[in-house]
Amino acid sequence: MKKKAAVAAVIAALILAAFLIYDGIHGKKISADFFAMNTYVSVKLTGADSDECATEIQQITESLDKDVLSRTSENSVIHRINQNGGGEIDEKVQGYISVLLDVCRKSDGAFDFTLGAVSDLWQFGSNPEIPNADKLASALSHSGHQKISLSGEKLIMADGQAVIDFGAAGKGIALDEIKAILSDKKIKEAVVSVGGSVLLMGNKQFTVGIRNPSGNSGSYIAKLRISESCVSTSGSYEQQFEQNGKIYHHILNPKTGYPVDNGLVSVTVVSESGILSDALSTACFVLGYEKGSELAKEFGCQAFFVTNNKQILAENGADDIIEITDNSYTLVMQ
Ligand code: ADP
Ligand code: MG
Repeated sequence: MKKKAAVAAVIAALILAAFLIYDGIHGKKISADFFAMNTYVSVKLTGADSDECATEIQQITESLDKDVLSRTSENSVIHRINQNGGGEIDEKVQGYISVLLDVCRKSDGAFDFTLGAVSDLWQFGSNPEIPNADKLASALSHSGHQKISLSGEKLIMADGQAVIDFGAAGKGIALDEIKAILSDKKIKEAVVSVGGSVLLMGNKQFTVGIRNPSGNSGSYIAKLRISESCVSTSGSYEQQFEQNGKIYHHILNPKTGYPVDNGLVSVTVVSESGILSDALSTACFVLGYEKGSELAKEFGCQAFFVTNNKQILAENGADDIIEITDNSYTLVMQ
């Protein structure tokens, strides 16, 4: 009898331990939203460390914005570099710059993070208007990634009037920093979106929507079925205005200083890296389908191009992961 009781106690203890382990891995679900990097950040976590990770994600995103990437925050690294025409930067910022310089070069300048003075003239986010042509030409003459180089810990700007702007890559950088925090924590699943860039972590298949360019932010035209990765979308609908009957938006052709006008309304890029998904979504938008899909392939990423005549262009075989959900759109694989 005694033996039976002991066996029962051991079994009960094992079941309890199994529950504790199960709970330790699965933990609770938490959902938090906040505003940073001029956009909404949404955090959804499942796992034992959810609470502390949600707090840490908010801290790191706010600090990355205020202390490093923001152009306007007085104490940020980018503000200091822009003010001084270069200067010392830490290893992390050197890493961001070298990845972005690689995207600038491989995209043949379609991606250019030195367009700050040009985008300022368009005043997106405040009172957008078509800039004065002379001022635009002057700002453009001071921009150009060729003017930026890294020498050890120093960032050198050959033209002191060039203005670095991480607007097209900052959200993706935030995803990489968030991923690094979560990697050694007890988190089973994470879905974190920073504006149009989303981090998916966990051992499952995720579904991510491609936004309807003419609908509200919760309306989708297609869904992607993907394993853990980063997904970024650059869409002309994010910031635009109408003047003299024409629509102008915030994704600029670095060769002209004017908004890209190539029939695209958005590009979505899937990558293991946040900074690459974000930078490449902008680069591919500027390049258009032919060159853009080549560039994405060069970086080992997948790209989906949405046109203003309701087509979604993608590489052959893409139908494995994309499904059109709005039947006014057609999937064209080439
Ligand atoms: P969003 O910020 O809406 O997610 P993007 O990631 O495409 O969109 O970034 C657009 C921002 O990047 C612009 O607001 C501007 O600050 C900057 N930008 C515009 N054109 C370019 C370009 N060709 N290369 C790099 N940055 C750009
Ligand atoms: Mg981008």
